[in-house]
Amino acid sequence: MVIVMKQNTPNEELEQLNTCLRQMGFQIHLSQGENFTILGLIGDTTRINEGRLRANPYIDRILRVQHPFKRVNRMFHPEDTVIDIAGHRIGGGSTLIIAGPCAVESEEQLMVIAQQVKASGAHLLRGGAFKPRTSPYSFQGLGVQGLELLQRAKELTGMPIVTECISVDSVGIVAEYADVIQIGARNMQNFALLKKVGQTNRVVLLKRGMSATIEELLMAAEYILAEGNEQVILCERGIRTYETYTRNTLDVSAIVAIKELSHLPIICDPSHAAGKWEMVTPLAKAAIAAGADGLMVEVHHQPEMALSDGNQSLKPERFEQLVAAVNQIVAVNKSLTD
Ligand code: PEP
Ligand code: MN
Repeated sequence: MVIVMKQNTPNEELEQLNTCLRQMGFQIHLSQGENFTILGLIGDTTRINEGRLRANPYIDRILRVQHPFKRVNRMFHPEDTVIDIAGHRIGGGSTLIIAGPCAVESEEQLMVIAQQVKASGAHLLRGGAFKPRTSPYSFQGLGVQGLELLQRAKELTGMPIVTECISVDSVGIVAEYADVIQIGARNMQNFALLKKVGQTNRVVLLKRGMSATIEELLMAAEYILAEGNEQVILCERGIRTYETYTRNTLDVSAIVAIKELSHLPIICDPSHAAGKWEMVTPLAKAAIAAGADGLMVEVHHQPEMALSDGNQSLKPERFEQLVAAVNQIVAVNKSLTD
C-alpha cells in the first residue's frame, strides 16, 4: 500500500502517522521527493481500515500495490533514482557508459584498453577478475591479481571500476576494489549473494538472468534494497529464446517496462545480447532510443586474442563510433522530452 501525502503536510503530522503505522507492525519506506511525499507500507495491509486512514486530512491518496516488489516499485518512489559514482551520474536523464574487456587478462591489456575507452568517452571501466564460465576448463579470471590490476587502471585513468562478484565469500574483497559490484546473469537469483551485496555500501549492477522474467529481476533487486542498499542499477543483457542466430535475444521491451515499473536505472549490455561484434552498435542505439539509462560494452584491442568473449568485443575505434552515435541519440531523446 502507498499513502500519498498532501504537499503542505507538517513534519509532525507525517512523523505521527509514520510512528502509528510502525506500531501496527508495518515497515515504512519514506520517499520525500520534490513533488511527492510518499509512505510505502510493507507488510500485510489487508488488516488496514482504509476508511479510518482517509479521515486523516493530510492524506491525499491511498493506493493498493498490485506487484510483489515494493521498494523497487515506482509507486513507492515516483522520481527516478539517481546514482552518483565518483561524480558520474546515472538515472534521471543522465546516461552512463561502461566499457572494458570481458576479462582482465594482463596489465598491458587492461591499461591499453582502459586508456582507449576513456579517450572515447566511457565513464566507468569494466573488467572481470572472477569469471563465471560455462566450462570449468575455460579461463576463470585472474582473481585478486585481476582486482589489483583494475586498481592500477583506476589510478592511471581515474575511471571507477565495475567488476563481477560470483560468491558470497568474495564480496568483502571485491567491495574493497570495486566502485560497482556486478552480479551476473547466472547469479541473479543467488539470494545469499544478493543479501550480502545488499549489506555493502557499494553500487550494485544487477544483470537479468538469462531466463528470468522482468518481475523476477525486480524481485532480485528487492532483495538488495531490503538489506538497506538502494544503489542498484539493473541491466538487460538479452534472454534465452528459441532463436540461436544471436547469443541471446535483446529484450528492448524490458527497458521500457522497467522504466515504467521501477525508479531504478536500467542499462543495456548489447555485447552479451548479440554475441557478435557487428550487432553491438545497432543494439546499443536501439536500447538508448528506447530509454535505457546507459550501456555496458565489451571492448578489446585484440579481440582475436581475447581469453573470453572476443567475438562480441568491439575494437576501440568501433567503440568510439558507438559512443558518438549514442550521444546523438541521447540528444534527440532530450529534445523530444523537453
Ligand atoms: C559479463 O558481463 O562479463 C558477464 C559474464 O555477463 P552475464 O552475466 O550477463 O552473462
Ligand atoms: Mn563477457
